[in-house]
Amino acid sequence: MRKFAYEVPQSLQEASQVLRHWGPDARVLAGGTDLLVQIKESGWVPSCLVSLRRLDALKGIRWDEGRLWIGARTTMKELLGSSEARPCTALLEGAGLIGSPQIRSVATIGGNICNAAPSADTAPGLIALGAEAVIADGGQRVVPVEDFFTGPGQTVLQTGELLTGVRIPRPPARSGSAYLRHTPRAWMDIAVVGVASYVQLDEAGRCADVRIALGAVAPTPIRAPQAEAILRGESPTSEAIEAAARQAAQEARPISDVRGSADYRRHLVYVLTRRTLHMALARAQADS
Ligand SMILES: Cc1cc2nc3c(=O)[nH]c(=O)nc-3n(C[C@H](O)[C@H](O)[C@H](O)COP(=O)(O)OP(=O)(O)OC[C@H]3O[C@@H](n4cnc5c(N)ncnc54)[C@H](O)[C@@H]3O)c2cc1C
Repeated sequence: MRKFAYEVPQSLQEASQVLRHWGPDARVLAGGTDLLVQIKESGWVPSCLVSLRRLDALKGIRWDEGRLWIGARTTMKELLGSSEARPCTALLEGAGLIGSPQIRSVATIGGNICNAAPSADTAPGLIALGAEAVIADGGQRVVPVEDFFTGPGQTVLQTGELLTGVRIPRPPARSGSAYLRHTPRAWMDIAVVGVASYVQLDEAGRCADVRIALGAVAPTPIRAPQAEAILRGESPTSEAIEAAARQAAQEARPISDVRGSADYRRHLVYVLTRRTLHMALARAQADS
């Protein structure tokens, strides 16, 4: 294996400097559950591994001015054990499905989204909940998570930038969210399709807001805006949910591969959208 450098910066500023110094081949190392497997399997070696382990600014889960801050180094286990994160149901349901207990105790939320797999299980929940990605580049910039991904394995991050965390607006009263995925095996498998839905009701019980996010059916996780439009401002009847789920299946852009044909994936989008909308609706009604 080619030699590579290993750096452990002490501050965000130093991390940006180190990443800029080593250039586009350098890689941030968080839990390593994606990165180390990729290095082993591909034989490709980064110029430098930049460990985040001394960057305490990237740790923590807390409410701050009506938004939940989740530091990029937060592990799935920490997220799942956090009472602060409990209102963000769709995100927790995604985090709880990742790998095994051993994987969840080292896999970070930052790594899950920066790896940018179309099947990443926290991405649809974050998008459905309206999350933003906070990026350090010497200063700071903020990007909606739905715009963070640019292709399989690709994000808006530029050389010298790293994700410091995500911010999720506090889910208002009368809202609920849910995430479901389909995998051929019950555990230790990646999503063939994953869907997160968010529903917010007004006082009359109509859908004041709806967001539907689809994973593993396009080069990046995507929204289904026309499906959302069917429900927005309307009563969430079974018929309306059925119509929205059918529309979401049309908005998916799946490929066929060994894990499922495009038609099969579209059908799964329909089934999972219908189910997650019903779950999110029931939670929103229980929150009234
Ligand atoms: C057995 C197994 C099962 C798995 N099952 C699932 C599953 O069911 N669902 C799922 O979604 N994933 C799954 N994964 C993938 C993986 O565990 C997750 O994506 C995990 O969240 C990655 O986090 P990490 O901290 O280990 O990332 P790392 O491997 O450290 O990093 C991943 C990528 O993100 C970059 N990165 C990490 N943090 C930052 C940051 N703060 N800023 C900029 N770039 C950063 C790294 O440079 C690298 O390119 C599985 C992996 C294994 C090995």
